[in-house]
Amino acid sequence: KIYKSVALVVGVTGIVGNSLAEVLPLSSTPGGPWKVYGVARRPRPAWNGSHPFKYIQCDISNAEDAITKLSPLADITHIFYVSWMGSEECEINGAMLRNVLKAVIPNAPDLRHICLQTGIKHYFGLFEAYGTIQKHESPFVEDVPRLKTKNFYYNLEDILFEEVEKNEGLTWSIHRPSLVFGFSPYSLMNVIGALCVYAAICKHEKKPLTYTGTKGSWDCYADAADAELIAEHQIWAAVDPNAKNGAFNCTNGDAFKWKQMWELLAKEFELELVGYQEGQEQVSLEEMMKGKGAVWDEIVKQNGLVRTKLEEVAPWWFADIVFCSEDLLSSMNKNKEHGFLGFRDSKKSFVSWIAKMKANKIVP
Ligand code: NAD
Repeated sequence: KIYKSVALVVGVTGIVGNSLAEVLPLSSTPGGPWKVYGVARRPRPAWNGSHPFKYIQCDISNAEDAITKLSPLADITHIFYVSWMGSEECEINGAMLRNVLKAVIPNAPDLRHICLQTGIKHYFGLFEAYGTIQKHESPFVEDVPRLKTKNFYYNLEDILFEEVEKNEGLTWSIHRPSLVFGFSPYSLMNVIGALCVYAAICKHEKKPLTYTGTKGSWDCYADAADAELIAEHQIWAAVDPNAKNGAFNCTNGDAFKWKQMWELLAKEFELELVGYQEGQEQVSLEEMMKGKGAVWDEIVKQNGLVRTKLEEVAPWWFADIVFCSEDLLSSMNKNKEHGFLGFRDSKKSFVSWIAKMKANKIVP
């Protein structure tokens, strides 16, 4: 088969990587037919196994492993970098991207474009400093100055610029999704995963689905980015000349309130909902779910689910951050001005990823 484009998806088992692996090989995908290589740290999981691409297990934080496994891939034309180490540390996150670029750029003569995914922390700072930094005014727009604080997203951008500059003709795009709605039991930040597992535990324990967050996060307008839409966004940037050498937000293009999503969640799991109660303080899901590992194992066994560990499928710390956050909307105007008109209905998106969690037997 003759391929027009060859993708390297770095982080192919992640929440966006898994969608890129699904969308890129489709015959209708712009820029195709695409040949796809996918890189991740661990052996290939079964839920990612049916996508037609070549899986490469590689630890990209290890320069030698990156050179050994990635430098032979001489036909790569596009890199989709959708990875991070799972902590906001600048050095190692930076080294991961650098190792990939140093292994691929000198050895792939047809390399044309690099998509780098970061996110809206670009505008409000790292989680570890949440609330202590003066964030940019929302709705966030792309072309504001960087905040005067450390942020591994800034390191990643600088590493990208440095490597691209040495190679004439090589183009780039930076993608800044808001909260991602998607599917990956390996994702380090998957709010849908955490919510589905929480709902399954409530059901198992015959308890109502109780909202644990703040009033602000319950009531405010929020936005999200569907993982499949983010894949389309990156593919758009990879092939469309209007998207070259720029940073673009990525959201579904609508707004919702978490109180509406919790209603949908309760419906999907047939649970009674106890929403925000006046005067309620946030209850940490991370604290509340301590010691529930055995309960989860029991749910998995009872329902014949794919065997997973509770801490792997339910990043409670991340849900705790989501349910105390507010005022984080992003503008999609720059995208529209440059020709990207993709969108999703956030409520339909939310329900569709819950359905995917069930269909893949990750939750009952
Ligand atoms: P993820 O946590 O879902 O997946 C990470 C992927 O990277 C996995 O495939 C994992 O195997 C791979 N990986 C991690 N360490 C590796 C290593 N040493 N070697 C090889 N592969 C390795 O990723 P994500 O959530 O899509 O995050 C990517 C970027 O998007 C991050 O910068 C993140 O901050 C940003 N982001 C995420 C969200 C979200 O809701 N998940 C929202 C906005 C922005």
